[in-house]
Amino acid sequence: MAEASPNLLLNSLPPATRRQCLDAAEKIDFRFGEEIAAQGDRAKYIYFPASAVCSLTVGIRSGDKAECAIVGAEGVIGVSLVGGASRNAFTAVVQVGGSGYRIALARFDELMQEHRALHDAMLAYAGYALNVVGRSVACNSYHAIVERLARWLLTMHDRVERDELALTHDMLSQMLTATRPRVSLTAAKLRSMKIIDYRRRTIRILDRKRLEQLSCECYEANRKHLQLLPWAGT
Ligand SMILES: [Zn+2]
Repeated sequence: MAEASPNLLLNSLPPATRRQCLDAAEKIDFRFGEEIAAQGDRAKYIYFPASAVCSLTVGIRSGDKAECAIVGAEGVIGVSLVGGASRNAFTAVVQVGGSGYRIALARFDELMQEHRALHDAMLAYAGYALNVVGRSVACNSYHAIVERLARWLLTMHDRVERDELALTHDMLSQMLTATRPRVSLTAAKLRSMKIIDYRRRTIRILDRKRLEQLSCECYEANRKHLQLLPWAGT
């Protein structure tokens, strides 16, 4: 396997650690809409997205789900497992298809014990993830849907290299914990303001600056937390 990795966390590791991680890793395609980990299931892998972007959700018995975090090349899926847990805390769904890596959980545990740098990187990411998940609780509880939609689109936009995002209003309603009609109404409002445009399964960002003005403070707060990570700072 090539030593280069577009996953920023893996890339930040010292060469010998990175090489061992990539030797243990399997390069995979994350397919749009695919569920790569299910909440409560026995975990098999730790995932490192590269060009792919996933969202982490928690579901309740009614079947409703709430999104807790978005993970792209800056991060890792499975950080809640590194303390010894064997079951997934979140469901991970691919929001933007692309490439990435996975490492078997048992092998990853060994690598964590053998490589202090990997251990430290996972600890740093766990701190960031805790901030993001905590922020998502407050955001979903108190911020208006238009602010949350703007925050979500900006967060996704930061993780892809294009203005078009493939997604439906149904997916958005799940991500934003809002009903589909409310999401459609809000999206229509942003379209009438020429901030976004959309067709069936695609949303295009037309005016990022105004989207930033519309977003709640959570976008900026999460961005600042992200920049504290050694591999993601500017
Ligand atoms: Zn918010």
